[in-house]
Amino acid sequence: MGNADCIFCRITRGEAPASVVYEDEDIIAFMDIRPVNPGHTLVVPKRHYAYIWELPDEEVGKLFVTARRIAAATKEALDADGVRIVQLSGRAAGQEVFHVHVHVIPYYDAKAPQRRRATQEELERIAAEIRKRL
Ligand code: AMP
Ligand code: ZN
Repeated sequence: MGNADCIFCRITRGEAPASVVYEDEDIIAFMDIRPVNPGHTLVVPKRHYAYIWELPDEEVGKLFVTARRIAAATKEALDADGVRIVQLSGRAAGQEVFHVHVHVIPYYDAKAPQRRRATQEELERIAAEIRKRL
């Protein structure tokens, strides 16, 4: 299933590593390796579609219900003041991975985000905190 060259298809098939916070037959959610803030997750439909306008209606509901649940768990796990749910489609919009995904990103009143590559230990530790609250 999926696209041999697509990193998110490879994660879905278990061929590339990821810190998974949630998985069912249709969806996988894992930590972004370059978080805008700690706790930044990506929610991904397992079937490969590049852009949101290609996603069948049946997939949209489940994708956003999962993003909402992860947002709630993330807010609690990381004591965030706010959460952004973001979807980029098309290079012009800033998309870098051409397999549909929704970003769930915690934000803080008093802290400007400092984006950087996270260690695998960090991602695993935070993923475990979010998983506990799902
Ligand atoms: P976008 O600009 O919406 O396409 O975002 C792609 C996101 O995927 C970026 O935030 C990257 O940091 C993230 N990313 C790329 N490769 C991986 C990976 N192997 N595991 C986790 N996150 C990734
Ligand atoms: Zn894919």
